[in-house]
Amino acid sequence: MKQHPVIELKKITRSFTKGGGFLGGPGQRVDVLRNVTLSINSGEVLCLVGESGCGKTTTGKIIAGLLPPSAGQILYSGQELSTMDKVEFSQYRRSVQLIHQDPYAAPNPTHTIYSILSAPMFRHGLVRTRRDAVRRVADLMETVDLTPIGDFIEKYPHQLSGGQRQRVVIARALILQPRLIVADEPVSMLDVSIRLSVISLLRRLQKEMQVAFLFITHDLAMAKHFGIGGRLAVMYIGEVVETGTTEQIINQPMHPYTQALLKAIPEPDPELTRAKEPINLRSLDIPDLADLPPGCTFHPRCPAYLGSRCESTTPRLLTQRDGRQIACLLYEGGKVEAIGRSVL
Ligand code: SF4
Repeated sequence: MKQHPVIELKKITRSFTKGGGFLGGPGQRVDVLRNVTLSINSGEVLCLVGESGCGKTTTGKIIAGLLPPSAGQILYSGQELSTMDKVEFSQYRRSVQLIHQDPYAAPNPTHTIYSILSAPMFRHGLVRTRRDAVRRVADLMETVDLTPIGDFIEKYPHQLSGGQRQRVVIARALILQPRLIVADEPVSMLDVSIRLSVISLLRRLQKEMQVAFLFITHDLAMAKHFGIGGRLAVMYIGEVVETGTTEQIINQPMHPYTQALLKAIPEPDPELTRAKEPINLRSLDIPDLADLPPGCTFHPRCPAYLGSRCESTTPRLLTQRDGRQIACLLYEGGKVEAIGRSVL
C-alpha cells in the first residue's frame, strides 16, 4: 500500500494586504509565498533555509494549521485538509506540533512547569488523576533532560534559563505524540554555548521517536548539522529554489542563490574563511515583496545572470537527473547535463 507523506504542500500561495492606511483604503496585495510545493515523509527531517523574511515561518505556520493558505492544497496523510471533518481536522492538529523560536515568550509565565505540561494531558483525556499526571510529567521531563525533576517541576518559567525553557517547550510539543514537529528557529534565541545541546536533544528525539521534523533556520551551518541524512529546501523571497538531500546541497549546491548562501558560512578556521573568494552578488539589496522583479526574482542579485532571459522568464522548479529540484534557467530546457557545474 502506498505510504503517503505526513504533509504535502501543493502550489501554496499566501497573500497579505499591506497598508490600507488609517482611512481603510484598499491596501496592496503582497504574496509572501508563491507556488510552494513541498512534502515531508514519515520520520524524515526537512530543513527549510533562507534569509530572514523569505517566508519560512509562514510556511511553518501553514503546515501546523495556524494560518490558512490563500491558494493551493495541503494534504495530511494523503487527505486534503479542506475535505476533513471536525474529528479528522482535530487529529491532524494533534499530530503536527510547533516549537516556537522564543522560549521566553512561549510558556505561560503564571503557571508552574507541572501545570504547563499537565494541562494538555487533562484536556485531551490522557490522564485522569494528579498522581498519573505527575508521573507522566516526570517521564516527559526526563525525556528532555530536565533533571533532577524535583528541582524544576514546581518552578515558574522565569526561574529557568533559556535552554531549560526551550526544553519545557519541546516537552510540551511531545505530549500528544506528534507525527511531525515544526521547529521554527528553535535555538536562535539561545546562548551559543547551549545551542548544540538543544540541537542534539532534538536529533535524539527525532531518531528515538521516529518523528518527522520541519527544521526552519536562516543558518545553513545549523541545517548542515541538524539535517544530515535528511533533505534540505532553500527558499528565496517566497519561493522554493532548490531541494535535495542535505549532502547533495551542502556538498554540491547548484542554484546560484544556494551557492551564495554556502559561501557566506564562516569556516571554523579563520584562515580558511579569509581564503574564501568573495561572493560576487550583483546587488546586496533584497527586493521588496510588494515590488518583486519580473522573471527570476533573484536576477537583480544573481552572479550567474544570463541576461534578459532571466528578466522575462520565471524559472520552474524542475526535478533533475539526481533527484534534486532546481528553479533556475541554467538547468531548464533539457540542460540536465548542467548538473555538476558550479556557476560561482
Ligand atoms: Fe540566476 Fe537566471 Fe538562474 Fe535566476 S534564472 S538564478 S537570474 S541564472
